[in-house]
Amino acid sequence: MIVVLFGPPGSGKGTQAHRVASRLNVPHIATGDMLRAEVARGSALGREAEPIMASGKLIPDDLIVRVIEVRLDDPDARTGALLDGFPRTVPQAQALDAMLRRKGRAVDVVLALHVSDTELHRRIQHRAEVEGRADDTEAAFAERLRVYHSETAPVLDYYRTTATTIVEVDGVGDIDAVTERIAKALMPDGAGASR
Ligand code: AMP
Repeated sequence: MIVVLFGPPGSGKGTQAHRVASRLNVPHIATGDMLRAEVARGSALGREAEPIMASGKLIPDDLIVRVIEVRLDDPDARTGALLDGFPRTVPQAQALDAMLRRKGRAVDVVLALHVSDTELHRRIQHRAEVEGRADDTEAAFAERLRVYHSETAPVLDYYRTTATTIVEVDGVGDIDAVTERIAKALMPDGAGASR
């Protein structure tokens, strides 16, 4: 099963993706985490990505598409994956569809996590204090939210034009409650519902 977890910055996507992937027994593939690892390693990709990430902008589509294509070919991703933070632009979504089609695969579900901008601002301030991520400054967050609305939100509209199943889940509330909502939406028969 290939699931795209879709939601604004600060929506709790990463936390939920991690939990839901282990329920589905598929790898959690988070492009932001992969890029932060490249930055930490000081690789060529990391050096290119670092200033862009710090500013809240997106790294070029062709770069991230290559990263994902390689990752999806790893043995652990052969039966499925939970994609977190990808695709983030319509060209990325189109490239993902094309690469999966070539392999006889497809995105099975897009799960959209809904959180209002007001709630996002509240959460991100908290995260800046607790985690101190380089891109959690107020300016960078404002930029990430702007980029989300202008470049990433249209990805959901793109999936509406394809035959992909879209499931919408309210992302506000207790972390466990949101996980249950997502699990129920993805596995209505209750498979994997145990903790
Ligand atoms: P995230 O941890 O998903 O919020 O990602 C952190 C940063 O990594 C983003 O603000 C972008 O600069 C970069 N990034 C992550 N995923 C992508 C993507 N799919 N396309 C372009 N840039 C990305």
